[in-house]
Amino acid sequence: MYAKFWGVRGSIPAPGPQTVLYGGNTSCIEIRLASGQLLIIDAGSGIREFGLWLLANDQKQGPLKTDILLTHTHWDHIHGYPFFVPAYIKSNEFTIHGPVNYAGNLEKIFSAQMDYTYYPIKLEDAGAKVRFNELKEGTITLGGAKVTTCYLNHPILCLGYRVEADDRVICTVYDHEPYVNIFGNPEDSDEAREAQEAVDMASEKVLRHIENADLVIYDAQYHTQQELDSHRGWGHSSVEEAIANCLAARAKQLAIFHHDPTRSDEELNALHTGLRQRMQNEDKHLVIFPAKERLLVSL
Ligand SMILES: [Zn+2]
Ligand SMILES: [Zn+2]
Repeated sequence: MYAKFWGVRGSIPAPGPQTVLYGGNTSCIEIRLASGQLLIIDAGSGIREFGLWLLANDQKQGPLKTDILLTHTHWDHIHGYPFFVPAYIKSNEFTIHGPVNYAGNLEKIFSAQMDYTYYPIKLEDAGAKVRFNELKEGTITLGGAKVTTCYLNHPILCLGYRVEADDRVICTVYDHEPYVNIFGNPEDSDEAREAQEAVDMASEKVLRHIENADLVIYDAQYHTQQELDSHRGWGHSSVEEAIANCLAARAKQLAIFHHDPTRSDEELNALHTGLRQRMQNEDKHLVIFPAKERLLVSL
């Protein structure tokens, strides 16, 4: 199985001379099983170019029948779909999976971006057959892949995916903010003690979600503790949090993901070099790299 990155940014596409190397497109990951089966995680702006690639490749073998797994419905995870050309081909069929939401059903939320107010073609008029599957925490089987979901800490319901296939495991943990106890010292009150227990349980669940994974694609929008602290409540993690959790869960590879739109190629290159050196110095076996558009990680 392999994972290939088509979009690695968070928040908003960030094209320009500073992001040529790592890419400016928002979340989209291709997961390809040895059988050829395709799973797509997220429909950020990266799905536009991936769609063109699919037209020149998979589509030549026949209609596409593919599952798209949405982590959640924030713009940067869905706004590429209207520009996904395979969605305009009648013989294609897509099942769009995503979290159940308190604000309405998945189909309504997803298709709202293709309302005439925002876009000239409605979802139902695009051509391809689309069905929606609302997910909670649990496990589903999609062809040869076992897909398990885990709720993450984000201002809207958001799912991490654990994809098991071909004897390998790929996990996503984005968009996700580390859980914190906002009730203070657990020794000072029952409320704070209970809050700490809840934080510990939820944090432990994320560790189990990525346990022994061959590749973890982790939200590391923030590079310093200060950046993380000044964005509490925004729903994102830091590089240190990603590393600590991947080490604790004995993951093999960590792809730093959901790069801040302001993050330049130069900064990401420096981060990569520094982390590689640090893992060597500390004699750790975790392979760490910043996710990059078109990078294919074969497992
Ligand atoms: Zn995001
Ligand atoms: Zn988000």
